[in-house]
Amino acid sequence: MPIDPTLPYDDQNIFAKILRGEIPCTKVHEDDHVLAFKDINPQAPTHVLVIPKAPFVSWDDFSARGTDEQISAFVRGVGEVARMLGLVEPGYRLLANIGLDAHQEVPHLHVHLFAGKPLGPMLM
Ligand code: 5GP
Repeated sequence: MPIDPTLPYDDQNIFAKILRGEIPCTKVHEDDHVLAFKDINPQAPTHVLVIPKAPFVSWDDFSARGTDEQISAFVRGVGEVARMLGLVEPGYRLLANIGLDAHQEVPHLHVHLFAGKPLGPMLM
């Protein structure tokens, strides 16, 4: 079910539990501000989720309330994951679902990173 991104942060969401270590994940990268792990239901040969280690529901929430340090660390973290996985060439796709119309299901900001095959043009 898509979530309402205007609701307050729910610390029982699945990614909050992953961040607290209550639910396992396959970690790809971690630093002080960012965790990256494999999606449980991959839609491409490489499908990684990158999340900030702070309670933000959506991109809107993050861009409004996040500190410059948190935002730059997240942007750098996504780039670091792509470099670490050797994806800069031949390339990869980033996607963030925000809110009801985009069918965001987990109410903790996340960026999907897809790679590992030609992904074709972006389709709506
Ligand atoms: P959204 O639609 O919110 O952008 O995508 C949420 C993503 O989280 C989906 O691709 C889904 O497969 C993934 N996901 C949901 N629950 C879990 C989980 O417990 N572990 C992992 N690794 N991924 C999950």
